[in-house]
Amino acid sequence: MEPVSAADEVVRICRDLLRIDTSNTGDPRTTVGERVAAEYVAEQLTGVGIEYELHESAPKRANLVARIPGRDRSRGALLVHGHLDVVPADPSEWSVPPFSGEEKDGYLWGRGAIDMKDFDAMMLAVVRDWQRNGIVPPRDIVLAFTADEEAGMEYGSQFLATQHADLFEGCTEAIGEVGGFSYTINDDLRLYLVETAEKGIDWLRLHAKGRPGHGSFVHDDNAVTALAEAVAAVGRHKFPMVITPTVRRFLEEVSEALGVELDPDEPELAIAKLGPIANLIGATVRNTANPTRLEAGYKDNVIPGRASATIDCRTLPGQAELFLEQLRDVIGPDVEIEHLQRQDALETGFDGALVDAMGAALRAEDPGARAVPYMLSGGTDAKAFTTLGIRCFGFAPLKLPADLNFSALFHGVDERVPVEGLQFGVRVLDRLLQAS
Ligand SMILES: [Zn+2]
Repeated sequence: MEPVSAADEVVRICRDLLRIDTSNTGDPRTTVGERVAAEYVAEQLTGVGIEYELHESAPKRANLVARIPGRDRSRGALLVHGHLDVVPADPSEWSVPPFSGEEKDGYLWGRGAIDMKDFDAMMLAVVRDWQRNGIVPPRDIVLAFTADEEAGMEYGSQFLATQHADLFEGCTEAIGEVGGFSYTINDDLRLYLVETAEKGIDWLRLHAKGRPGHGSFVHDDNAVTALAEAVAAVGRHKFPMVITPTVRRFLEEVSEALGVELDPDEPELAIAKLGPIANLIGATVRNTANPTRLEAGYKDNVIPGRASATIDCRTLPGQAELFLEQLRDVIGPDVEIEHLQRQDALETGFDGALVDAMGAALRAEDPGARAVPYMLSGGTDAKAFTTLGIRCFGFAPLKLPADLNFSALFHGVDERVPVEGLQFGVRVLDRLLQAS
């Protein structure tokens, strides 16, 4: 038999995973593929003699955890985690069927190709390679494959963190999405964005009350009018700029790399020069609040007594309470605020042996690599694992073509991962896990 390398296997495993439809619709009755994907992961592990535990949080909502013993078991373990679910895809919008795992033009195409079956495949390819070659990592590595990252994490990482915390005993650090991808400055310099912070989530519902009545009368206490005013005010409001240590460091690195002057009072001028990732970074210099849903009324000629709206708020580390005060000022005293879901922001320093090892692993495979910290405006499974006292990083290494609009591929149409970038990623991950 031909010897198999991790670089070959990562492509096969990623393709196999892309062909399993793990769409997370948010409705547990129609979300069924996670179990199939977890069983596939289990086969890949048992095929090389790695034991695992599989736990369902609800029927078909499968989570899988495995521990690879390291040479020094007294050291803190490193958690490496990836979610198996994906957001749904509408085939009519795609140039290839979204669950075909097709390979063309140097890419593997499919929903989940970068979010995040690519990293799931890297994890499996690395540990399978180790098992075949008798490689033992320096410290325990815990692998976690989760369900439900795309719809609130209740059936995935939150379930694991609250019901099976023992599986993560001794874990001091973690790597997962969304980071480790390249942003090309020029042929000789690529910044690799390592996620060291995540904004918090605050999903709120605003409720306005008024006097119900006939639509034909003079009426000065209309719930729809009151709600609409509050929603418009929130939607147009720009919250004050706050630069956290992560974002400051990122902006300094980027300004230096691009050779643009960074005005600390006007960082958005530097951000605007970032091109496609400006959206991603621009959301990390302030709290944000975007209205997403509206509900009111039941008949054309009846003024309803109530109206409500949902607001998707994302808060900077340490800003959650202050943000609510600011929001109250914007919407006024009469509109009620209901809390639907809240998850704290997180932020850790860009320092220590693991961070140094990330930079070294990247440079070993790309001499033009420079690792820089950044803050993700969204949320990931890191939020749940942080509650176990684990220091979380986004580091799923990928070398990307300079002209690829990477951030647009997240939950986007024609999601795809460059095959060479995937193979680069598996080599970097292998180096990192063997060095840390
Ligand atoms: Zn993801």
